[in-house]
Amino acid sequence: MNSEELFRMAQDVLPGGVSSPVRRFEPYPFFAAGGRGCVLESVDGVEYIDYCLAYGPLILGHAHPEVVEAVTRQIRRGTAYGVPSEGEVELAGMIIDRVPCAEMVRFMNSGTEATMAAVRLARAFTGRDKIVKFEGSYHGAHDYVLVKPGSGAAAAPDSPGIPGATVSNTLTAPFNDEEAMVELMEEMGPEIACIMVEPVMGNVGCIEPMNGYLQFLRDITMENDILLIFDEVITGFRVAAGGAQEYYGVEPDLVTLGKIAGGGFPMGVLAGKREIMENIAPAGPVYQAGTFNGNPVSVAAGIRTLQLLDEDLYHGLERMGSYMRGGLRDILSDLDLNYQVAGLASMFQVYFTGEEVTDYRTARTSDTELFMRYFHSLLDGGVFIPPSQFECCFISAAHEMEHADRTLEAVEAALRECQ
Ligand code: PLP
Repeated sequence: MNSEELFRMAQDVLPGGVSSPVRRFEPYPFFAAGGRGCVLESVDGVEYIDYCLAYGPLILGHAHPEVVEAVTRQIRRGTAYGVPSEGEVELAGMIIDRVPCAEMVRFMNSGTEATMAAVRLARAFTGRDKIVKFEGSYHGAHDYVLVKPGSGAAAAPDSPGIPGATVSNTLTAPFNDEEAMVELMEEMGPEIACIMVEPVMGNVGCIEPMNGYLQFLRDITMENDILLIFDEVITGFRVAAGGAQEYYGVEPDLVTLGKIAGGGFPMGVLAGKREIMENIAPAGPVYQAGTFNGNPVSVAAGIRTLQLLDEDLYHGLERMGSYMRGGLRDILSDLDLNYQVAGLASMFQVYFTGEEVTDYRTARTSDTELFMRYFHSLLDGGVFIPPSQFECCFISAAHEMEHADRTLEAVEAALRECQ
């Protein structure tokens, strides 16, 4: 069956024809037949160079042979135990070795679960109820954080079904704006349990923190006895082995991880300072649990993936990221378009705006209709990027120069066609 036929059937049995809203685009999404390296193949027999990479986890590309082997070996020995297994201790140790703030680790199954547990833990630890997040940040699909969200939720920011009382304690602030945060602290500081931040905003495209901004957040949270939580579900193991906290040299109290930590399998991680983490059940009273927590298959994939992420690999990703961003700037500067090329390491995005993009407000000045024409032209040219201005493109270790050059050719053709 081809994608069109499958989508018609899917609409009957899956709300909107998909299992997660970001996967839907017009007129219908292509259905995957398989992935190999940096290539995703559709059931229609078309091969795409993939910069969506399942929205981030596949830093080694699709079906990396060594990850597949580790997972296969694990599956033969069982897929869920209901008792602890050695791999959990090993993976926890690897995370603690790499991520500066991590002294203890709790494994879960998704980034959503990790941020939900982080908020509960921060509230319990501080005895305060209010939390702060940033406009356009996305921390998963649970109630506490679906306030001015980015990613797919930006399209439907006010989901019904969330009681007003549940989000009355969720405050928002503009990213990269020190003054606004100082004001919020003066007004509410003693009531705030945590500030949760994506250190690089990856759900409104890709926005880096301004020079000193993360340190400013560290200082202001310390002054107000507030926990600083970095949501590194995207940036963890991507911008550096120790994530954005290593890259920018600022250490939060807690970190949430996911995506890459599971090597392409479901994973969520809450990690942080021992004195805070020891409050999680059964060491302490803050409840968190899950049938599939520390699932041995995800853990095996995570261990093998982290083992393969060495310095050379990060240098290669950095080189490829710079090459791609430079190539995009060269192409765009020859065209009569306002644009910004954003990103770092193996993350990038293009905004069609003359404004410097530093927060959600400026990100939204981008011409999103032009972006979608760009997306579709790229797709026709055999390149798959996430189908939204408010997502980020990722590069994997499987992308080679030849793929980058083919991509830039497709970008040039796409932009000439759709401007
Ligand atoms: N936090 C961030 C920064 C994310 O980008 C995402 C998902 O994209 C999440 C949390 C939620 O993770 P999951 O989709 O695994 O629940």
